[in-house]
Amino acid sequence: MKTKGTITAPELVATRTRPSKELFRTLFYSSPIGTYIVQNGRFLLVNHQLARISGYNDDELIGKSSLNLVLAEDRNAVRDNAVRMLKGERSHGYEFRMVTKRASLKWVMETVAPVFYRRKRATLGHLIDITERKQVEEMLKQTTLEMQRSNAELEQFAYVISHDLQEPLRMVSSYTQLLAQRYGDKLDADADEFIAYAVDGAERMQALLHDLLEYSRVGTRGKPFSWVNCKDAVDKAVANLQIAIQESGASMTYDVLPTVMGDEGQLVRLFQNLIGNAVKFRRDDPPRVRISAQRRYNKVAFSVQDNGIGIEPAHSQSIFEIFRRLHTREEYPGTGMGLAICKKIVERHGGHISVQSKPGEGSTFRFTLAVAGDEAT
Ligand code: ADP
Repeated sequence: MKTKGTITAPELVATRTRPSKELFRTLFYSSPIGTYIVQNGRFLLVNHQLARISGYNDDELIGKSSLNLVLAEDRNAVRDNAVRMLKGERSHGYEFRMVTKRASLKWVMETVAPVFYRRKRATLGHLIDITERKQVEEMLKQTTLEMQRSNAELEQFAYVISHDLQEPLRMVSSYTQLLAQRYGDKLDADADEFIAYAVDGAERMQALLHDLLEYSRVGTRGKPFSWVNCKDAVDKAVANLQIAIQESGASMTYDVLPTVMGDEGQLVRLFQNLIGNAVKFRRDDPPRVRISAQRRYNKVAFSVQDNGIGIEPAHSQSIFEIFRRLHTREEYPGTGMGLAICKKIVERHGGHISVQSKPGEGSTFRFTLAVAGDEAT
């Protein structure tokens, strides 16, 4: 189908051997790229796209100095770059800030080439609006800086926890234990009980600090990514949980699991925390844990499903926060850090974690990871 002003393939072949004015006009005026011809520093021809980018209409641009559109601070660089390109230096273009008619700034990228127009030397220019790309780049730069800053803060935080808090706590714990050993038989039953509480409190605090330290190190002490066979990672996690699995009589089934790009130690920890919870938060009947993986393009969605006590939907977000628990230590032991660590590991791998559950009917934890290879059997 041919509409007015468009060029068919045979016409293009014909014009290749003998470039027509018509072809030039079509290329020039219908281009989605701002296109212009400058002679003696002034616009001679401009297309609508250039007018759209700059905010001026075509008539206002014709005769206007092209450098007038360039922000004063960028003019020298634009002149130098243009001269180099006009001399034939290869380049993908140069970037500068354009001042629009409304006196706002736009980032543009330009290429220029020397041409003859009406037998005089001229410059053919192409220009695209890259403001949005620049804004995204700037945002990314800011976000990266912000992340570096918060990572440094976290590192400092981890140091405070490991040194400044753990050390005095170790003293409290070892001296109360010493007290219990040396004076246990000399004190009354109340004193024994109080000492036991103090020892228990110190041990609990140590466990909390240990997990908080592990959490803070997910981002700062993670290993570089490499190929990880997820079946091996799950096998290691299961081996680490051997006692709990045996004691509870849990049965485990898993799909064919893929190879992913990741930090193996962290992926073992991720599976271990999820399988560990599936076994821990069980009902009276033996836990049944099923690990599945569904590949979709370059991502894989894993799920760890159990037949345990389940979670109220109202808590499905908050359980991933640090120290968040839905039960007392007497009901189920733990520090409330397991899922927060899982979330941080999954996010470090560019994925997302969530849970779907009904109380009394079990839970399914799902997370995504980027796939890097074939399925491992
Ligand atoms: P912890 O296991 O130390 O309590 P987590 O961060 O691993 O800490 O889990 C937070 C809370 O989420 C748990 O206390 C529990 O209430 C709930 N939870 C986690 N996994 C499950 C599960 N598989 N089934 C039921 N509840 C769960």
